[in-house]
Amino acid sequence: MIEQRIASFPAWAIAGYLEPQRGHLAIDGVDAIELARQHDTPLFVFSESRIRRNIERLTRAAREIARPVKFCYAAKANSTLAILRAVRDAGIDIEVNSGGELYKAQRAGFRPNQIIFNGTSKTEAEISEAIVAGIYAINVDSIYEIELIERTAERLGRRARIALRLVPEVETRSHPGLQTALLTSKFGISAAEVSEAFARALARPELVHLCGIHIHIGSQTPDVEPFARAFEAVWRHLIEIYDRTCHAIEHINLGGGFPVNYLRDRSQADALPAHEREMLEADLDPAEVLREVMRVAREEARRARADHLLDRITFLFEPGRSIVADAGVLLTTVRNVKRRPETGDTWLLTDAGFNLLLSMSTYHWYYHLISAERADAPHDMPYKVAGPLCDSGDVYFDIERQGRLPDYRLLPRDVRPGEVLALLNAGAYTVAQMFAYNGRPLPAIVMVRDDGCPRLVRRRDSYEDLLMNELD
Ligand SMILES: *Cc1c(COP(=O)(O)O)cnc(C)c1O
Repeated sequence: MIEQRIASFPAWAIAGYLEPQRGHLAIDGVDAIELARQHDTPLFVFSESRIRRNIERLTRAAREIARPVKFCYAAKANSTLAILRAVRDAGIDIEVNSGGELYKAQRAGFRPNQIIFNGTSKTEAEISEAIVAGIYAINVDSIYEIELIERTAERLGRRARIALRLVPEVETRSHPGLQTALLTSKFGISAAEVSEAFARALARPELVHLCGIHIHIGSQTPDVEPFARAFEAVWRHLIEIYDRTCHAIEHINLGGGFPVNYLRDRSQADALPAHEREMLEADLDPAEVLREVMRVAREEARRARADHLLDRITFLFEPGRSIVADAGVLLTTVRNVKRRPETGDTWLLTDAGFNLLLSMSTYHWYYHLISAERADAPHDMPYKVAGPLCDSGDVYFDIERQGRLPDYRLLPRDVRPGEVLALLNAGAYTVAQMFAYNGRPLPAIVMVRDDGCPRLVRRRDSYEDLLMNELD
């Protein structure tokens, strides 16, 4: 009985959302193979109810600490309009990183006080747009930028709300490309400049209102500890500013980074180096993070006799990955199969390359691969798998042979051309980064709505779209 349950409920499955159904992969009960037939592949499929569930997990965690908590979805993870609308409908706010994302956020219906704006290289035009919109906060990345915002605010005759982004120098066990809080990273104002930055930020209160302090320790952070250390760093500055100037900071923004377990199915986990495996399988509950941050906050406030300051604080978080990663699946068709008797390998050539999964190439990110057509068949045959691009780096393994991805992917026996496969946890940092390399039209996106109906939310590019904006 138990064995039967295990056989029909694979490790990668998520009950009620991602499951085998009559042999096929089903997404919120919708047959993935039907969708592939109807819309062709490659095809991204998203679940609105999974996004909602992921957001509910966060808001539930917030209720536990009984403090104002503002979650600003990091739009860079996936800024497809339908995704932004689903996030807005689920009731949280948004973090944007460019004028383009600000535009999309407004189009998706976010109100100004729901929007914060990050970025290292904002243009004056972008800053103007943010000030005119009257957003909740512009997160400032340097002293120079404070001056730029002041000038812009003065020109517009408006007042800007700003937060200073600091470098907390907290190391995490994430991927080096995803660690953002070190002095060797490009982000934020370093300790040596913090005092000057605060003085500068408070110098022209009629033009800029310093409302917050921001730090982001990185993405896919597997432990509670770095969030708590980051809080301490921010808190020290908050106290110092208050002692010196009586200016009370209104919000503390601890950034994004709640991790996603990319290794629910661990059948290929042993092929990964230990540190990579531990990072990918992180299963940190956001509630744990919030509880620990709150515990440290109370302790620090008591020590500094500053409960009155803590009482005024809104906590901000900027989750991206944890909201969309497991809500998206990439369907891809095997277009070619070949054998290499010299090495004993069977190769599967799919229609999904690194133009759709950039981090598989840049960060060697692991996306679990299954057969969408034979979702409950044993996956025990090793294949070399590669995408369609005319680029030898377009492979599903680590071309540099450093073992950061499994050399082989496990799929059912006898995979033939035409079989539809699915890459799981493919909702974050994929669609947002895709590009039309090799003249490959960008794929369609389907979203299964809360009511269980699949809806096309992005049509596949046409060949004509490949020439968009090119002048004859
Ligand atoms: C990338 C990023 C995020 C989102 O990180 P996730 O790991 O996707 O939650 C949030 N804030 C900032 C400043 C970022 O750079």
